[in-house]
Amino acid sequence: MSDCPDCSCGNYDKCLRILNLILDDEATPSQEAYFYDHIEKCMVCFAHYNVEMQIRQLMKTKLCQKMVPNELADEIRKKIVP
Ligand SMILES: [Zn+2]
Repeated sequence: MSDCPDCSCGNYDKCLRILNLILDDEATPSQEAYFYDHIEKCMVCFAHYNVEMQIRQLMKTKLCQKMVPNELADEIRKKIVP
């Protein structure tokens, strides 16, 4: 599921784990530093980060969280991730 053949970092699982921590406000400062430094170089993780941020934003602003179907999240991912 988290497998991304386009990620050049070779650390996609680690990035994904930290990304989720950041989204939940649970990342340590060193994890955040690692991630933000990484997405400057890795477009795949950068795109992923943007998508997840937009989904979170959408859930917060427009829709009640439980009303967001997984298909909608998938649609957004498809649109943004190349
Ligand atoms: Zn990456």
